[in-house]
Amino acid sequence: MDMLIGGKHISSEDVEEVKNPYNDEVIDTIPIAHLQTADLAIQEANNAKKSLQDMSAFKVSNKLFNVVDKLKEKRHQFAELLTLEVGKPINESLVELDRSIETLRLAAEEAKRIYGESVPLDAGLNGKGFFAFTQKVPLGVVAAITPFNYPLNLTIHKIAPAIACKNTVIIKPPTEAPLTVMKFAELLDKEFPDGVVNTVTGYGSEVGDYLVSSPDVDKISFTGSVTTGMMISQKAGMKKVTLELGGNDPMVVLNDADIDKAVKGVINGAFLNAGQVCMGVKRIIVEEDISKEFAQMLVRETEKLVMGNPMDEKTTLGTLISQKAAIQVEQTVNNAVHLGARILTGGKRDGAFYEATVIDDVTPDMDLVVRETFGPVAPIIHVTNIDEAIEVANDTEYGLQAGVFTNDYSNAMRCAQEIEAGTVFINKQSTFRTDNMPFGGFKNSGVGKEGIKYAVEEMTKTKLIGLNLR
Ligand code: NAP
Repeated sequence: MDMLIGGKHISSEDVEEVKNPYNDEVIDTIPIAHLQTADLAIQEANNAKKSLQDMSAFKVSNKLFNVVDKLKEKRHQFAELLTLEVGKPINESLVELDRSIETLRLAAEEAKRIYGESVPLDAGLNGKGFFAFTQKVPLGVVAAITPFNYPLNLTIHKIAPAIACKNTVIIKPPTEAPLTVMKFAELLDKEFPDGVVNTVTGYGSEVGDYLVSSPDVDKISFTGSVTTGMMISQKAGMKKVTLELGGNDPMVVLNDADIDKAVKGVINGAFLNAGQVCMGVKRIIVEEDISKEFAQMLVRETEKLVMGNPMDEKTTLGTLISQKAAIQVEQTVNNAVHLGARILTGGKRDGAFYEATVIDDVTPDMDLVVRETFGPVAPIIHVTNIDEAIEVANDTEYGLQAGVFTNDYSNAMRCAQEIEAGTVFINKQSTFRTDNMPFGGFKNSGVGKEGIKYAVEEMTKTKLIGLNLR
């Protein structure tokens, strides 16, 4: 595939193969851009600002709705490509497509709701005789840098609100899974003037870094790891930055919980997308009295998962993004076992596959739960009471989302208030998001919020216009 810059297809002498992690076959190649090409994209995005800003909100909204219709028509085609490049089961890819369509639809609606407010200047000492109002104006050029795990929906979470509030965009997709995003950019490009949508493929450390450092890019909207996020925040200078980073989300299961519900929450939360989910359940903190029953039920349900060809509709556990990623998960689990943890089921690797693994007797100091483990692993940590549960839940640099399972109202409220995370769900695992809700972590899990309305806030600036009526 080619890049799309200023409405033109652009290639490069250097290319990278995009491989299917299931069978290692090459699906396609992408150009590896260097700094000159990134610079061209920045110029084109700046040149296109006026054409987009001159468009009415009505027209921008309609155009986004047209893209919604096109994506709906191509839902299956996109889902298949997504499964090929990421290795996620086809049914999960279809869900990502449905969410992508929803995210885009929310942005098309939001394009008509970008309001300012009137400001009573006469409430201030010298303000009598003035009338003033604010307008939300676009920032200019937004660069969207996105990860491999939900490449399409997470990219749409950035570029759709950016365009809804009339920013032009440059997309830097993940090198391991760029294809659905590049195809989607082509759909968008057909609706909007040249240069409104641009893609730059190439290595994050080179072209990503260049976009972050450029004074001619007005905003970086980044989703990815904490390490990259920290580098970006240091290099971005005066531009606005939204960082949606990693998570190490706790699931707290108290003695009075509905165990069946909590177990189902882990199956979805720890094993979805082979555990490669920022808001995945990564630490299961269980009160001692119920821990044995909980672990037995969890093993039973985990063993029902079907690992296999991601294109097969019966498959519920696909591959990780690469064999390298699977080896890393294998090593982290093995280290925990070496330190005393016990594998109850799973624990084996085959190429890029890693079995759905339940591991008990994990202690909070093991690397498996200190760092974000990006794989299908459900680590169980035992605690003796709610105080210890909250303490363990908060004993992390991360704070994305959290889930608490209890049927006691006051325990639920206490956990909700004391757990340090951007979202706390009661009787639902952390692995839940609707695309309109404010989403974004505390602590090292990020800066700023997404969820269309909230992303628009972060992609506009407020201008005050004052009229002297005297
Ligand atoms: P990553 O390694 O940080 O890469 C993310 C993106 O950043 C890729 O496009 C990458 O390009 C680019 N990049 C790498 N180095 C860069 C640099 N120096 N400057 C600018 N861009 C750079 O993350 P990942 O492994 O793809 O994704 C997994 C991580 O994302 C996990 O930690 C996960 O929790 C997090 N995540 C967070 C959320 C959220 O909403 N909070 C959602 C999903 C995932 P290349 O591909 O070319 O290296």
